[in-house]
Amino acid sequence: MKPARALVTGGAGFLGSHLCDALLGDGCMVVAADNLLTGRLSNIEHLRTDSRFEFLQQDVCNPLLCGAVDYVFHFASPASPVDYAAHGIETLRVGSYGTFESLELARRHGAKFMMASTSECYGDPLVHPQTETYWGHVNPIGPRSVYDEAKRFSEAVTMAYHRYHQVDTRILRIFNTYGPRMQINDGRVVPNFMCQALRGENLTVYGDGSQTRSFCYVNDEIDGIVRLSRSSEHDPVNIGNPTEFTILECAKKVIAVTGSASKIQLEPLPQDDPKQRCPDISKARRLLSWEPKVDLESGLKLSLEYFRKAVQEKDSAPR
Ligand code: UDP
Repeated sequence: MKPARALVTGGAGFLGSHLCDALLGDGCMVVAADNLLTGRLSNIEHLRTDSRFEFLQQDVCNPLLCGAVDYVFHFASPASPVDYAAHGIETLRVGSYGTFESLELARRHGAKFMMASTSECYGDPLVHPQTETYWGHVNPIGPRSVYDEAKRFSEAVTMAYHRYHQVDTRILRIFNTYGPRMQINDGRVVPNFMCQALRGENLTVYGDGSQTRSFCYVNDEIDGIVRLSRSSEHDPVNIGNPTEFTILECAKKVIAVTGSASKIQLEPLPQDDPKQRCPDISKARRLLSWEPKVDLESGLKLSLEYFRKAVQEKDSAPR
């Protein structure tokens, strides 16, 4: 039988590149499309000699000329608060035009489709933990809206293609995921804390550090994504780790794992920063028999070498 051919938009990004690895591991042929706005060639360097892998450097807001595919994974988008603040218009474009182009491709080829959505759809949630049936509490004009509303719109387009064009779609709601290949300067909390601890700098905790997040190690997230891709669920599914930590607890864990002498320094809380976030994963447990296996401390240990090397490379590069 001919192997399945999958397109991963955002395939040179942190999660996209890990997904390419998993799909190749499953015997698929993989095309990664990425305009390298926040993705990096170094994330897919190890795949360049694999004859089953192709890289298309293109903006996925333009028609995708990749030939026939059996599966489209739409993962392209800036994803960290710092990146989407810097590229607000591009974030709105990829969530709208990019989603249309990816869905058109799936429709033309009768391909299955998965949209990478986010816990940001829940905004600063009033329901805790967040179930998929909660509609969210999002500021539509605040600084995070370029991402939150792009993803909410993207979910709406995906459901419309399912309803009007019978495209076989899935919507994945990703909660804070971390691990090797994260950009060390993307401003997210795990890379910030890891790099600060490894450099012996103070860890910048925003606000009083009482806000919570639930951190999922990348291998667990990818396992959930692959399982969801094989299911026939069309409504959104949360994939994340349900163990919740305050940001202060996260900072202390990073200091312990790195063995650093760094101290904690409180800084102002960014506008609209969600106060708490924790997925209810009952649906993923029931439908996909999935749950994360790696706790935060183990995941930070598994990520340590990557961050150590990345910091060394960055700090020894000529300025
Ligand atoms: N945060 C922090 N210090 C940092 C970076 C982030 O205290 O150096 C906080 C941020 O205010 C938020 C949480 O950590 O409450 C997670 O931030 P991140 O940017 O990783 O992602 P978010 O979940 O907000 O999209």
